[in-house]
Amino acid sequence: MLNIVLFGPPGAGKGTQSQKLLDKYNLIHLSTGDLLRSEIAAGTALGLEAKKLMDNGLLVPDEVVIGMIENKVKEHRQAAGFIFDGFPRTVPQAQGLDKLLQDNDTEISAMIALKVDDEELTKRLLLRGQTSGRPDDQNEELIRKRVNEYNTKTKPVADYYAGQGKYFAVDGIGEIEEIFNALCQHIDALKEKQEENK
Ligand code: AMP
Repeated sequence: MLNIVLFGPPGAGKGTQSQKLLDKYNLIHLSTGDLLRSEIAAGTALGLEAKKLMDNGLLVPDEVVIGMIENKVKEHRQAAGFIFDGFPRTVPQAQGLDKLLQDNDTEISAMIALKVDDEELTKRLLLRGQTSGRPDDQNEELIRKRVNEYNTKTKPVADYYAGQGKYFAVDGIGEIEEIFNALCQHIDALKEKQEENK
């Protein structure tokens, strides 16, 4: 299986690039942000609780997102692999994911980070907020809070995967196609290695 963690701050382009990677490599897209927004739209108890935190730019508890991912991984046991987008966002989530994949006889192949500076992120998110309808993209203070959550809680996740020799970074500023090609180069190299080890 090819299991990729697509990593980067809010607005780095994870959603855009995930969409392109899914088509090319036939992977299942698991975005905890999208899953949480579906819960909100369906008006579930989980969605109502999550909304309070999301509206304040704060992270949802680890066990909630790990539980959602676990259900989806089990639903798609036959998949060629997964792209995890917006997850894991804390070290305990990364540990939970390792355990859950191990229980399903697989593992993370790599984390690929999209690197974008804070100023560009704020600009992109405010622009996205004009059309996405996402309340958390329309307020500059909230965007700063999300970037702050990322810098304090999520960045250490990169070290976690670096410690396993699985961390790669790609410049997230430039043409969409150019960034996509850089991501594909890393993924193709991983696939080749997987073939060699078969
Ligand atoms: P995103 O769509 O990835 O930008 O996520 C939107 C919001 O959903 C975040 O600001 C968090 O409040 C929440 N969220 C999404 N994924 C996670 C996660 N893995 N852990 C905790 N909270 C999350």
